[in-house]
Amino acid sequence: MDVKILDTTLRDGEQTPGVSLTPDEKLRIAIKLDELGVNIIEAGSAITSKGEREGIKKVVGEDLSAEICSFARAVKVDVDAALECGVDSVHLVVPTSDLHIEHKLRRTREEVKEQAIETIEYAVENGLLVELSAEDSTRSDLEFLKQLFKEGIDIGADRICACDTVGMLTPEKASSFYESLKNLGKPLSVHCHNDFGLAVANTLSALQAGASQAHVTVNGIGERAGNASLEETVVALYSLYNIETDINIEMLYEVSRMVSRITGVHLQPNKAIVGENAFAHESGIHADGVIKKAETYEPITPELVGHKRRFVMGKHVGSHIIKKRIKEMGLRVDDRQFHQIFTRIKTLGDKGKCVTDVDLQAITEDVLGIMAEKMVELEELTIVSGNTVTPTASLRLNIDNKEVHEAGIGIGPVDAAIVAVKKSIKDFADIELEEYHVEAITGGTDALIDVVVKLKHDGNIVTARSTQPDIIMASVEAYLSGINKILSTNYVKKVKEGDL
Ligand code: MN
Repeated sequence: MDVKILDTTLRDGEQTPGVSLTPDEKLRIAIKLDELGVNIIEAGSAITSKGEREGIKKVVGEDLSAEICSFARAVKVDVDAALECGVDSVHLVVPTSDLHIEHKLRRTREEVKEQAIETIEYAVENGLLVELSAEDSTRSDLEFLKQLFKEGIDIGADRICACDTVGMLTPEKASSFYESLKNLGKPLSVHCHNDFGLAVANTLSALQAGASQAHVTVNGIGERAGNASLEETVVALYSLYNIETDINIEMLYEVSRMVSRITGVHLQPNKAIVGENAFAHESGIHADGVIKKAETYEPITPELVGHKRRFVMGKHVGSHIIKKRIKEMGLRVDDRQFHQIFTRIKTLGDKGKCVTDVDLQAITEDVLGIMAEKMVELEELTIVSGNTVTPTASLRLNIDNKEVHEAGIGIGPVDAAIVAVKKSIKDFADIELEEYHVEAITGGTDALIDVVVKLKHDGNIVTARSTQPDIIMASVEAYLSGINKILSTNYVKKVKEGDL
């Protein structure tokens, strides 16, 4: 069995509410689709506008391997517009349900059929391949539908297509419906919409029943809930039905990202095959299983579709995963340090935050820094801030086993806290804050905050950092960590010089 793929990302996909592609964007996507191995690219609907024709012409001019197709209604002007663009074929769409014929076209079945036949003849005479497509075919009278297809084939249509325009098929109905259309003498296409989330299932069912070509879009974009998605259809065929297509499966993730970027239609993270979570594991048991043998919790490998496996560390994370990740980052921690890292990740998890690899690296480096021997330790910090008070900080530090209390005011809470710290250590060392840099690692107001400070002492610059969910704590800890570095260097120097 051989399944051909007609991609309509540039036509049905572009009809996604809010999506409009420039001619150059169409071209970029078409080049990628061709590289992906799509058999037919429906590049647009030539009658739509001058810009649309410009886009289709650019695609045609690229001399791609794929057949280039334009959508056309069963009217001469539409075929003329397609001819002007130089496409190979038209996807010639004729509404066949009484609902569409009576309420949309205000015609009779006979009138619609007659016009369709005339237009097919015109297109064929002018050298176009014709895919005769029945709109709303799944709510049409089956005998009328078959009659239209038969007459269309007699006059020269090369393929026929039955569209489930409002997505009302079920896999069972799709099976019997496409079965009844498969022996009309020409290849049969399936075109499914996703109003009930069944577009891919219905498409697969139709292909099993005898359709030989699927209309799909990248990421399943399209009108309303979209079309059958290319990546889901192709990978299901490959992995679950052992049916090959000409699609280079390992390009799917890349193509998905590109279409998402250009169209501005973002993917839900749990989108099958190409979603950001499609190969992400959080739970300790799952992640442990995947590390031991990927098949335990992955039906296909991410590499198959050009995606990446990702471990997300949240409250379900197991200690073995964290240990493994830290090791892979080239960092070494002892049991005491590991315990602190583990506790911090779990605490963040309980606050509803997930930790990525980047977060884990920052936390680990932070713990490695903090847990070095230190002379100055924060024991207590209180901040008062708001629009009617002067930002004030009071703190208690343990400096070389002596308790020091201090307070400070500043232009903001971070400034107040740093002022208080500076005052409390002024007897120990003359330290200047040279640089203060703050960054939210993963975005969002609940993100981990990474503070990097550069401190100057005796002409030397020391860099220190801290990563915490709280910006004030991150700032104070970074500052203290820098102070500790300076003091321990001084201490070592003094020991060497025999001062102590
Ligand atoms: Mn459609």
